[in-house]
This record gives sequence, structure tokens and C-alpha cells, in this order.
Amino acid sequence: MEAPEDPRRRRVGLLYDERMCRHATPDGESHPENPERIRAIWLKLESEGIPQRCVVLRAKEAEDKYIALVHTQSHIKLIRNISSKEFDSQRLRIASKFNSIYFNKGSSEAAYLAAGSVVEVSEKVAKGDLDSAIAIVRPPGHHAESDEAMGFCLFNNVAIAANFLLNERPELGIRKILIVDWDVHHGNGTQNMFYKDPRVLFFSIHRFDFGSFYPAGDGGSYCMVGEGAGAGYNINVPWEHGQCGDADYLAVWDHVLLPVAESYNPDIILISAGFDAAVRDPLGGCCITPYGYSLMLKKLMGFAQGKIVMTLEGGYNLNSIANSVLACAKVLLEEKPLVGSIEVQPFESTWRVIQEVRHELKTFWPALAVELPQNVLASNGRPCPVEVEGMNKPCPGSRDKSSPKDVIWKTVPHRLFLCKISHPDMGQRRCCFSSS
Ligand SMILES: [Zn+2]
Repeated sequence: MEAPEDPRRRRVGLLYDERMCRHATPDGESHPENPERIRAIWLKLESEGIPQRCVVLRAKEAEDKYIALVHTQSHIKLIRNISSKEFDSQRLRIASKFNSIYFNKGSSEAAYLAAGSVVEVSEKVAKGDLDSAIAIVRPPGHHAESDEAMGFCLFNNVAIAANFLLNERPELGIRKILIVDWDVHHGNGTQNMFYKDPRVLFFSIHRFDFGSFYPAGDGGSYCMVGEGAGAGYNINVPWEHGQCGDADYLAVWDHVLLPVAESYNPDIILISAGFDAAVRDPLGGCCITPYGYSLMLKKLMGFAQGKIVMTLEGGYNLNSIANSVLACAKVLLEEKPLVGSIEVQPFESTWRVIQEVRHELKTFWPALAVELPQNVLASNGRPCPVEVEGMNKPCPGSRDKSSPKDVIWKTVPHRLFLCKISHPDMGQRRCCFSSS
């Protein structure tokens, strides 16, 4: 006989759909963003009996009118048609015009399903039909700009869902959305879509490496705080190098994200949950463990009455992403207390970045204006790594540990592109500027 349902048991939505595996490289060439990613996550969750404890949902295609809330008509038209027969001979050429994009016959459907799925679960969580949800979707979304596919992303799934809740479902009472983007890359597309909008607080923590880490440029700098009514509602935490792990992320949670979330008091939290900052990811070069992700998520559950929607973004080591999503699913199900420990301290650079971010944002968020206790800063901080991993080729400048002078940083809002390159004429540790 089945036990009666425990009324305290949390209703966690879990969305997976094999149709999103049909988006793949046209020639079978290996690629980090491949269908095995979501399959591996699903198999892991199944092997642990997670789907039985969740509300399992199938993907739904997004409607064009909702996608049009953040994307241009020409971009929607391209993604809608790119998999049709008439594009057979042009698909490769069109993909090559974009930055890090491929298309095949399954791309259109997968893109519509990914976006529609995030809309669907976000609506259910906003309504209270679900307490929280995980959308295991691909292609990912946070690099997609309003008029451009980019960085393995076709539609900006999370941005579409956020706009849907704010503009299409006002009766659900979602007026303030916190988007936490913990993918190792900066969420440039999402940042740009809400840059002037105070209804969305966009928080991205990412490798920046002084502007040399993908997507490169100045967009991921902490100087990018939002504009107009949105000033103060865009928060970037830019790592100076790889190898950041649990201790670094949790220090940022405690000293930046959580104080701000407390003041902002969001109605729902959408997580752009890439897992490419996970330990052993081939592109990220960072070290978050499944335990680290579970703590990061647990700390967010104290806000918005625990209304959290996690959406998969990047993450390219199959074991790492599967174990990380599993750890997060267990947190949302709230079945057992978390077990684990964090051995190391944050890097010295982590404290520097935290102080810089707090300084930049303190006029908008008084909670950040308080000086950090000197004992926190003095007693913590291990030396920054000399060698950093990440990407297949080392990024130019990624071995340069010196931080730019303050005056250089301040030029970022004026759209001067800062890069650190090694060039025979310049020697190793030099900075150069070029306007972008
Ligand atoms: Zn990423």
C-alpha cells in the first residue's frame, strides 16, 4: 500500500525531454555541448530514484510571442527556420557567422523546447503548483543576445521566462526576480536584456581573467552595475583566475549575494545553473564540488519562500554535472541535512574581488557599505595559483596575477577594452588597451 503523501514534502518539478538531444553537431564532430550532457544528468537522477520523488514534466515548445519579449523578430525567424529543408545547404555557412554556434535538423525544435520548458516550470513555481523546479534543458541560453545566437546558446531561456512572469502573468504577483548566474562564464545576454530593468536583479559570478576569459571584453566587469532605473541591479563578480572553488563561492555568497538578496527580497529566484565551474570541467578550470553547489543552493532557499527554478546552462564534464545536479535535487527535496566540509580558504584575490564589488555597489545596497572585519581579511586568503587551467588553450593573460591599477578599471564603463596579452615586444606582464 502506498504511504499517504506527506503534506510537508516539497513538490519539486523535474523537466527532461529526450527531444532536446536532437540538437547536435551536423557532421557528428565531437563538441563539449552535446546531447550526452542532459542524458548523463537524467540517468544519474534515475539511478538515485529522484524522478519518483519529483513531479516529472515533459518539455513544451515556447510560443513566439513570449520569445519576442526578449528576442528580435529576425532572430526568432532564423531559429524557427534553421532546421527546415530549405536551409539544408546553408546551415553551415549561417552557423559560421556566429560566435561558437552550430545548427542541425534538430536545433529549432530543441531551442523552442528549452525556452518553453523554462517558461512552463517558472509559471508553475510562481503559481505555487510547485515549490521549486529543475529544468534539464539544452541548448543553453545565457550567452544568447536579443538578436544573435552565441556561445552554444540559441534562445535566452531564463530571460524569456523572467520576462514572461513579469509581463504576461502579472496576476501571479511576481514583481521582483533575482537571477543568479553561477555558470563559469559571464551571462552577457541576460545582463544586456535587463540592464535598465530594476524588476530583475541579475547576479553573475564568473571567470573574467581581466577580460580575457570567454565571452571576453569588459561586459563581465564589476563596473557594469546597470543603467537608468536598473542602476544597481546588475552585479558581476569577476574572478581574476581559475581554480576558484567552494570556499571562494561561499565567501561571495556571504559577503555579496546574500546581503543584497535580503534587501531586494525577490518574489522568485531563477538560477542560470551552469555546472562548468564544477571540479574537473574541461572548460571552466574551477573547482566547485557537489557539496559546494548544494550549500550555494541551500543558502538561496531562504529567500522568495524557497521559490527557485534551476535551469541548466553550461557544464561539460558528464560526471561532474550529473553529480552536481543530483546534489542540488536533494537540496530542493529537503530530505536530509547536508553533509560535507570545506577544507581550504578562499584565495587572496577572492577577498580583493569581494571588496571591489562591495565598493562599487555600496551606494545602491547599504548592506554592502559596511567594511569587512579586518580579521576576516587578514586571517584568510591563500596565494593565487600561478598556473590556471580552463579552456583547451590557455587564455591570453590568464597567467598574469597582477591586478590592473584602479585607474585602469575605471575606464571600463567608457567601453575601453582592457586586455592583458603576452607579446614579444611587450614582455610577459603588461597591459594594453584598445577601444572596442
Ligand atoms: Zn558556461
